[in-house]
Amino acid sequence: MQTEQAPLTLQGFGLRYGSDVVLAQIDLQVRAGEVVALVGASGAGKTSLLHAVLGLSPAGACAEGGLWIHGVDRAQATEVEWARLRGRVLGLIPQDPLTALPAHRRVDGLLDEVLRRHQPTLDRRARRAAQARLLQQVGLDSALRQRYPHALSGGQGQRVLVALALAGDPAILIADEPTSALDAVAARALLGLLAQEAHARGRAVLLVSHDLAASAAVADRVAVLAAGRLVEVGPAAAVMCQPVHPYVQALVAARPPLLPPRPRRLALAPTAAPCAQPRHGCAFAATCVRADGRCVEQIPAWRTVAGRQVTCHHARVGA
Ligand code: SF4
Repeated sequence: MQTEQAPLTLQGFGLRYGSDVVLAQIDLQVRAGEVVALVGASGAGKTSLLHAVLGLSPAGACAEGGLWIHGVDRAQATEVEWARLRGRVLGLIPQDPLTALPAHRRVDGLLDEVLRRHQPTLDRRARRAAQARLLQQVGLDSALRQRYPHALSGGQGQRVLVALALAGDPAILIADEPTSALDAVAARALLGLLAQEAHARGRAVLLVSHDLAASAAVADRVAVLAAGRLVEVGPAAAVMCQPVHPYVQALVAARPPLLPPRPRRLALAPTAAPCAQPRHGCAFAATCVRADGRCVEQIPAWRTVAGRQVTCHHARVGA
């Protein structure tokens, strides 16, 4: 255990299945009271990282480097320890309430079960009061606790998932694409709720998303993942307004414009996919117009450019 360590800390973390590297050299901290958005396209490695943090990597996965959860070293954690961490220290908000909430259970029954498990000292009366408190905390009327999942709107269902995740009063909240089933208004409200849990209650919030613009709007910092590596990590406003990595520049430029777009030359086409984790060189070397011989031969290491961490030999503000 390290001192002054962030509740969620990954240091040189990697994951592979046999010779297939799915995550490499992940350095990331999520501190108490901040929202970090982990953003990446499909296949970037978000789910593998999420499973590793939850101790749910499939059999055969080989991890290396460090991953600490509230001071507990992943490599030393027993199954009993993982069971204590999940729910009590790590709260997970799944993607879709329709699939995550059992159709035959009312909201009060689900909340009661989680409270009994994670707060066993509460008697029945105290658990009822805690249910009302949790629903109020996520902006729901306590009368909704008598409903079944099919009687909830998408936004209400997602808030029930947040209430379930908060029932163990976790230090770390992990939201896995929590707005994917919501309309824009409900999505914005839910992201605001996550920011409130971080800023007002001091939780460390990791928001996993494919939507850079939406998550950056509420996150304090953004970490962009591509081909199993973090490519740019920095303050959300800086990454959104002035990205320095060519891939992140392409992601930001791919947003639908509010005004007719001005022609711009980009180092990468927005659709350019990185190749699978390469053994040498940068994953974008085949498609990036900024690539040179060094990009082909050397995997870029972390460096600081314009106030954020980036893995690119030629990162700079502007195309
Ligand atoms: S390291 Fe080279 S190939 Fe990779 S993104 Fe940067 S400029 Fe492009």
